[in-house]
Amino acid sequence: MEYQEITNHPAESSTKQLSLDMVFLCKSCNTVLGDSHSFCGTHDRLQVIIFPRVTDNVIVETGLLLFMDGDMNGCAYYLLLCKNCKTSLGFSLYTASRAFACLRGLFCLEKEKLICYILKSTKICPGSHLNIKQLPLTGHIMKLKKELVNLHVQIELLSSQLEESEKAREKSSEPLPSSWEKNATLEAVK
Ligand SMILES: [Zn+2]
Repeated sequence: MEYQEITNHPAESSTKQLSLDMVFLCKSCNTVLGDSHSFCGTHDRLQVIIFPRVTDNVIVETGLLLFMDGDMNGCAYYLLLCKNCKTSLGFSLYTASRAFACLRGLFCLEKEKLICYILKSTKICPGSHLNIKQLPLTGHIMKLKKELVNLHVQIELLSSQLEESEKAREKSSEPLPSSWEKNATLEAVK
């Protein structure tokens, strides 16, 4: 069976992008483990798909384990299992070296252990064919920075205007000079 690679690389056609609604299943028993709405990317070197949330069908083993070799040597993790067939699916890092610190607490499921079911097209593709690059955030962050600076200037301006108007209000509520008061009383008597 021929599978199509799913990627969000800008050069790829839009039909293959991850705006697709996908469900991730255990390759051994087809149990639903997660979906594309709770999915944040893939890690090329580790060959995992990363999820902030998974379904209850993913069991997090209670005992901490240690990677004893490879890129993650010395990192502590919880093993993740399929609730139905007990296949080991991946890991959730508890402690990590700097290079993998961003994965801590997330669910890393091995691509090899998953299949993706694409809802609208009803196609199935192996997890190993999924390749989602993180989109560059630089442009977005620059725009946000500019907006923050603008907001800051506006807030400064507003608070100085507020201060001015408070000063003016204080001045206007100061007691009138005593001669003015007398005149006002006289006016009232007439
Ligand atoms: Zn399973």
